[in-house]
This record gives sequence, C-alpha cells and structure tokens, in this order.
Amino acid sequence: MVRSLESYAQDRWHAGARDAIELRNAVNGDVVALASSSGLDFAAMLEHGRRVGGPALRKLTFHQRALMLKALAQFLDERKSQFYTLSTATGATRPDSRGDIDGGLATLFVYASKGRRELPNDTVYVEGAAEIVSRGGSFIGQHVCVPLEGVAVQINAYNFPCWGMLEKLAPCLLAGVPAIVKPASSTAYLTEAVFRAMVESGILPPGAVQLVCGGLGDLFDHLTCQDVVAFTGSAGTALKLRSHPRVLAQSVRFTAETDSLNCSVLGPDAGPGTPEFELYVKEVVREMTAKAGQKCTAIRRAIVPERHLAAVIETLCARLAAVRVGNPALAEVDMGALASLEQRAQVRARVAELAAAGEIVYGSPEHVDLLDADAARGAFLSPILIHCRDRDADSAVHRVEAFGPVSTVIGYGDVAEAVTIANLGQGSLAASVVTGDDQIARTIALGIAPWHGRVLVLNRDCAKESTGHGVPLPHLVHGGPGRAGGGEEMGGVRGVLHYMQRTALQGSPTTLTRICNRWMPGAATSATPVHPFRRFFEELNVGDTTHTATHTVTIDDIERFAKLTGDEFYAHMDEEAARANPFFDGRVAHGYFVVSRAAGLFVDPAPGPVLANYGLENLRFTKPVYPGDTIGVRFTCKQKTAREGEGHGEVRWDTEIRNQNGETVAAYDVLTMVARRPLGSDPH
Ligand code: NAP
Repeated sequence: MVRSLESYAQDRWHAGARDAIELRNAVNGDVVALASSSGLDFAAMLEHGRRVGGPALRKLTFHQRALMLKALAQFLDERKSQFYTLSTATGATRPDSRGDIDGGLATLFVYASKGRRELPNDTVYVEGAAEIVSRGGSFIGQHVCVPLEGVAVQINAYNFPCWGMLEKLAPCLLAGVPAIVKPASSTAYLTEAVFRAMVESGILPPGAVQLVCGGLGDLFDHLTCQDVVAFTGSAGTALKLRSHPRVLAQSVRFTAETDSLNCSVLGPDAGPGTPEFELYVKEVVREMTAKAGQKCTAIRRAIVPERHLAAVIETLCARLAAVRVGNPALAEVDMGALASLEQRAQVRARVAELAAAGEIVYGSPEHVDLLDADAARGAFLSPILIHCRDRDADSAVHRVEAFGPVSTVIGYGDVAEAVTIANLGQGSLAASVVTGDDQIARTIALGIAPWHGRVLVLNRDCAKESTGHGVPLPHLVHGGPGRAGGGEEMGGVRGVLHYMQRTALQGSPTTLTRICNRWMPGAATSATPVHPFRRFFEELNVGDTTHTATHTVTIDDIERFAKLTGDEFYAHMDEEAARANPFFDGRVAHGYFVVSRAAGLFVDPAPGPVLANYGLENLRFTKPVYPGDTIGVRFTCKQKTAREGEGHGEVRWDTEIRNQNGETVAAYDVLTMVARRPLGSDPH
C-alpha cells in the first residue's frame, strides 16, 4: 500500500484528497508515495502562522529560541536512522545522505550555538554602535532589528530534502518568524518524515511550522509585506515567483538560490606533480559524483591552464573510470542515481547542448555500467566530462547547467583570462581557486569575487581541514549574484537578519537606552550607593554607574610597570626619544598600565557576585597619559545578558578613563560574569 504524504496545516495533519502525483524511488522506479495539497486553505495557513505561530515565537528571547533549536536537533539526531533509510530512495549514497541529514542537523546546532553567543537574551537585536548625529550628543541614532510579523514561505529544491528545509528553518525560527515549508515534490517523502518528527517532538510552539506536500495553490495571492519568500530551485521558477503581482505590489521580501555554473580554477603554478594538482583533480571528481552531481554548488566548469590541459583531462578520466555507479544502498557504490527519470532525460538534453561546444572525453549519456541496479528503471547516469573548446561568452558552457554528474574542462592562457572565463558564468554560488601561489590566489580570488557568493582558496596548507568546494557552511553566506539568484542565506547571524526588519531609531540617549536595554553614550546614569561589584545579576540595572577615586601617575609607576612587564618601549623610558615621536611631548605611561590601574580603581576586591573578567572589547587609547596626570574611571553597566539555566549572567561595562581635565584617555567595554542571586537571599 503506497502512503499518501500529508501536509501539516494549522497544527493538524491533512491528507490531500485529489490530483495526487506519484513520487518514485530514484533507484528502481517503484512508487514510494503520493502527494497532493488539494483541499488546503492557504490563506488560513498564512493567517495561522501570523496569529498563532508568530506571537508565540516572538514571546521567546533569542536564547530561548536557540535552546529550542538545540533540543530539536538532538531529538532529530536520535531518530536519524529512519531518515537514512528513506534517503536511499532519492538515489543518495550513505555519504550523500550524511551531507543532507547530518548536514541539516549540524546547521541547527550551529544556529543554536550562535544564537546564544552572538545574540542577546532579549527580543530585540541592537545592531552595531550608536551613531552620534548631533553636536551636543542629546540626539543619537541606533539600528535595531525586530522579527517580521508575517510568515516565511520556504520553497526547496529536490536535491537536499532534509538540509534544504533545516538550513532555512534554523535562522528563521531563531529570528522569531514562523514558516510554511514547501519541499520539492519528488523527494518530499523524506522532508515529510523529518517534519513529522519535528512535530512529534512537541518542542516548537503551535503555528511555528507548517508543511505543504504538493503545490502551493493560491498562497502567493495572500502574501503581505511582512511575509518572506525564500526559494531554492530553477531560475525559471524563481523568475515566475518573484514577479508574481502580489510579491511586487506588497514588496514581499524574496530571496532566491537558483542555478549556478560554478567553476574551479587551477593556478598556472599547480602543474602535475604538485600537491595542488592532486587536490584539484580530487575536488573535481568529488564534485561531479557526490549527490550524482545534483548539487547547486557543484563544479560545472573546470578552468585550467592550457599547458596542463592534457594532463588534467587524462588524470580526471582515469579517476572517473574508478567511480562505481549503482545501488546507493551498497557501501562499495560511489555514486547513486539522479532523483528521477525525468531529471535524467533533462540532463541528457543539456549534455547534448554542451557537447556541441566541444567533445565528450569521458562517459556516455546513454550507457553506464551498474552495480546491482537496472538502468531502465533507475535514474542512473555515467559521470560525463566534456572538453569545451569554445570558451567565448556565448558558448553553451557559460549558459547551460546540466544538473547531474557532468563537468566541462576549459583551457585558459593567462591568469587574466582565467578570471574573465570564470566570470562569464554570469554569477555563481561557489568557485574555487587551487594554487600554491598566494599572489595568484589574490588576483584570481578578488577578480572573481564580484561574480561569486563564495570562493574557496585551496592549497596544501588548508587541504586537510578544508570542507571542500561544494559544501555551504552555516557560518558563511550561501548564495550568489546574477543567475545564482541574487540571494543570500545562512552566514551566521546575517541569515537571521533576513527575517527581521532593520529600523533606525532616533532619539535621546536615555530613551534609546530604555528601548534597547543597552546603555548609550550620553544617557542618564544612576549612582548606586552599593558598589556594582557587590550586586547580583538581578540587582544590577543598565545605567548603574560608579565614579572611582583617582590616581596621579608618576615616573616611578612607569618604571616599575616597565620592569615588571619587560615592556621598555622608548616612548615610556627615554625622554628625548619620546619627544621626537610625533604623538608625544615626553615620556608617557604605558596604555596597559593605565588600563591596569583603572581596574585597581573600579574593582571591589572582596569575594562577591562578580565571578570573572572574561575580556575587554573596543579598547582605544585616545590621549597620552604623562607623569603628573591624574586619572579616574566612569564605570557603567552597559548591557546584561542572562544565561538560560545557568547560575550567572554576562555583564558588559562601559568604561571610560578620564584625566584631570575631564578628557577621555581610554575607553572600552569590560566583560564580566556575574552570579545570580541565590534563592532566598536578601536583595540589596
Ligand atoms: P524547480 O522546478 O524550480 O522547483 C523548485 C521548487 O519550486 C520545488 O519545491 C517546486 O515544487 C517549486 N515550484 C515549482 N513551481 C512552482 C510554482 N509555480 N509555485 C510554487 N512553487 C513552485 O527546480 P528543480 O528543477 O526542482 O530544482 C533543480 C534546480 O534547482 C537546479 O537548477 C539547481 O541549480 C537549483 N538548485 C539551486 C540550489 C541553490 O542553493 N542555489 C540548490 C539546489 C538546487 P514541485 O517540486 O512540487 O514542483
């Protein structure tokens, strides 16, 4: 009995009643499942996300949402063996499935961790420093980011049914925005299984996620300016969807990841016999065969120096001959099937176009030797390497994407021509440059950067730990200009901000401090009768300030500090040499002495709630301190970050050291860990 996939709408599972399409096993052609979204009320789904999911997510802080992602990743991780079984039906080998399933979980884990390290335990993200836009400082500006109040509609391609969903969901849920996930139909059975486990976990609040197995019906007609569409798939579909009248009329945020004629350039220095040559060949073969070449980032154009062209082709052919194609369930199989027979037919047609611009030097579009599989039933295809002689701008090699185990080799004369050829792809997701010469690396990497979202520069030094050409990392942006869709996903916190509105707040420093929970320069401070180091985390308020006693710096201070630290830089030790320096009028105190002495002034030494100093940020020495100058410190509680479930929180202190004339000589943030008040203890 073939299972009908269900959609998840308004917190209920929903079986499509009519017009189901058959989803087939890529390996043997059997029908795996049926999919239909008929009967779904798309307007109601959007409303549900906006009215139920959004408010529930927005109630949580970034840290609470991050912990939710972590719990979700752990829950799915324990159940992943069932996903692996289903993944084989998509044509994926075990390593392919690992990239999709474990890669997706890793993305959740990375966002869970970044959310707690790089975002505040608050519901508003204060972006960058305040802008002082008035002479007197009573009127300032501050950028903040808040979650959009709509729904993210996330449309995914068929090649990464698990990662594709999770890489979009992680930053979106962390931002506090609910999502409607629409997997590509042909592999939706795996997405549905992962989604079902997410629902079973009970970790996400109601309305946070919904799923559509099948078409999106009239959903686009109901989008508003608070919604976001994040699309991955073909350029044709992206164009159609981004030019939907409703998307245009409502300025719906639309981000697209589409086709890409990614390239890899072999440096002129990296001839046969060099480690870089070997790395290059390995990378091209891996990119051609991993996921049977159905990776949006796969190397489609191998751009190599003319003088190494024959050697590259010969070596690639020999390596491709060793690739075993067949049943992806077998451990000895290196490359499985394409996602469907239709897909194979499409790739064959594209190969014919590419071959017209050159010649096939490895593989046949019509024949492949298989291990334990039937080429008539499964969507198998041989790896195909094409030597493309026509490298002009209008050549098919720069226009046609064969979304399978297909790559072209193109020769170049000099480095400038390599850059030109690389950029003829009209915008790509990923490129790599394999060279042992850093000057060549700079010329090529910066020459192609305007046309590429990501550039891997590979050599013997980083090869061992390199994640490879084709792997998008959650820490770094994924996306590219032009035909790659012009979008950007992930990239750590950048990906979260795609789902948020950046707003420029303008007003008085005190008002903005209260809105942002972060003390701004010029805002009111409150003197506290109790030293701030004697206050538990809960008892501290943003703006609490202490003005310390002062210290007059002596020549003896400077000499003792120099002796203790061994820092005998002439500006501290030699009056004449110091005077000759354009910045100083004579011997100056060490900046580190000033900072150390400041600590001696603001620290309250007895054991208490302050547990540790874990760093300084943004330290600037703004004026020299000379013997005879008197320094004192203003020490202000700038920001508090509670740590969920831990006995302490982080407190950031705005620290300003001034001299006897009230001039700032140094400014920085001191970072401390401060204990929470023990239960039952008396507040101050
Ligand atoms: P596609 O036909 O454009 O489909 C992509 C997604 O759009 C699927 O979920 C599809 O659903 C949906 N879709 C199609 N028509 C739609 C419509 N009118 N309204 C709403 N949704 C619609 O792409 P594909 O051929 O499956 O995918 C392969 C392409 O994706 C390749 O060209 C590849 O380069 C690109 N890709 C890019 C990336 C990237 O990150 N840049 C990653 C992977 C793939 P159905 O399946 O139900 O039609």
